[in-house]
Amino acid sequence: MADVKLVNVTKKFGNVVAVDNVNIDVKDGEFLVLLGPSGCGKTTTLRIVAGLEEVTSGEVYIGGKLVNDIPPKDRDIAMVFQNYALYPHMNVYRNISFGLELRRVPRDVIDKKVKEVAQMLGLENLLERKPKELSGGQRQRVALARAIVRDPKVYLMDEPLSNLDAKLRVQTRGELIKLHERLGVTTIYVTHDQVEAMTLGDRVVVMNKGKVQQIGTPKEVFDKPANKFVAGFVGTPPMNFFNVTVEKEGEDLILKGSDFKLKLLKDHAKLLESANLRRREVILGIRPKDIFPKEELLENMKPFVEHLKAPIDFVELMGSETFLHFKLNGTLAIARASANADYTMGDIVELYVDLRNIHVFDKETESAYF
Ligand code: ATP
Repeated sequence: MADVKLVNVTKKFGNVVAVDNVNIDVKDGEFLVLLGPSGCGKTTTLRIVAGLEEVTSGEVYIGGKLVNDIPPKDRDIAMVFQNYALYPHMNVYRNISFGLELRRVPRDVIDKKVKEVAQMLGLENLLERKPKELSGGQRQRVALARAIVRDPKVYLMDEPLSNLDAKLRVQTRGELIKLHERLGVTTIYVTHDQVEAMTLGDRVVVMNKGKVQQIGTPKEVFDKPANKFVAGFVGTPPMNFFNVTVEKEGEDLILKGSDFKLKLLKDHAKLLESANLRRREVILGIRPKDIFPKEELLENMKPFVEHLKAPIDFVELMGSETFLHFKLNGTLAIARASANADYTMGDIVELYVDLRNIHVFDKETESAYF
């Protein structure tokens, strides 16, 4: 096992800065997820760790050892890609065992390992089959087995579940979690799917335009996003944003929009005062879960809420919950209601905001004040 460290890593392809001064410290045994939109530099970062891409500048360490000049095969890593290529003419057993055969591992050791891994991934009954006789999910598990059987120091996985249908993806995700708990091997996992990132990662690195935006536990990036990008990227439905002004009203500090205002809680008011934001424009962020119709208001929330009224644009029934799309401040936003919420288009709904969970971002830098 090993920790992985990227120090000031930059990768340019001509004029394109794919990875921009990235610093990441992956702890020994950690499951770290690189999350971000298409083109943000996740895959390039992973390929740099694998040794498939040379850095333009910066250092990469695996297990404390500088590996910049060490070829991929000597880095003791195993990669699982989105387009895993199994050997079509070999059966599942040989697909799993082949890497060990090349390394001249004794037959009986290979046999023991293949059977152990096959059992771990539910492939015992498929060992004689060829890849074309397998389902997508089974093939994916063979690709995983092939990586696992090598006992590497680090697993590198690039969207390994993206070819699977929704149900199989959830199932394989569960298998990955169990596998990591059991093996505890340092894993770097690339995905653009925030649900995958939140469920799999010990920590998540949110990237955008080649830069690290935030590194934290799934809970940290969800509850305390460092900036508007992270706030908008993590969470479904996404956070609602409103342009507002910070104003004083009597003793209170309020956020004033074109057709609503919210009185800030004391701690939040203090933060904005100390940042000298009075009369300045800021961006207010409210997650759909933190804005809800009055039926959802619990007694113990009452000291922490403010209410506002808005017309419903449309209602989205999700089965276990309902999303109310409403118009406020010249934009469309989403509130969360229970499954049996009874609203229709055009209704004026009274919405409550949980002030403890609101966020304020700087208009220019988009960094979070809270
Ligand atoms: P995706 O989720 O779409 O795979 P990503 O976050 O993994 O995206 P990268 O594949 O790392 O992003 O690409 C980062 C940037 O570098 C993109 O702008 C991409 O076009 C560019 N890039 C990647 N590889 C090369 C290459 N070999 N030559 C030129 N540009 C490249």
